[in-house]
Amino acid sequence: MLNMKINGLIKKAKWESIPCTCNKGFVMEEHPMKECSFCRYEICWKSVPQKDFKVNDDQYDLNKKLIKKQTKTVKEITLVRGSLEDVVGWTW
Ligand SMILES: [Zn+2]
Repeated sequence: MLNMKINGLIKKAKWESIPCTCNKGFVMEEHPMKECSFCRYEICWKSVPQKDFKVNDDQYDLNKKLIKKQTKTVKEITLVRGSLEDVVGWTW
């Protein structure tokens, strides 16, 4: 299955209730970006992977010598949320 299993999903997180005060200003190509809190949280939320992805999973011995190069597929992640239930990261 290609769809990521995401633990910690919320129907409506607190940050989704705060208004956008930058009028989606981040869409414009301005530097530095001046997005508001809402848009910042939205960007974080949209950066959550929706599909399986591969990570480096090399095996080392006790002397930190590389034994085997390999990757593993991450199929399940758990969201880490901030004070407004905004997504600050995820673990697997
Ligand atoms: Zn905004």
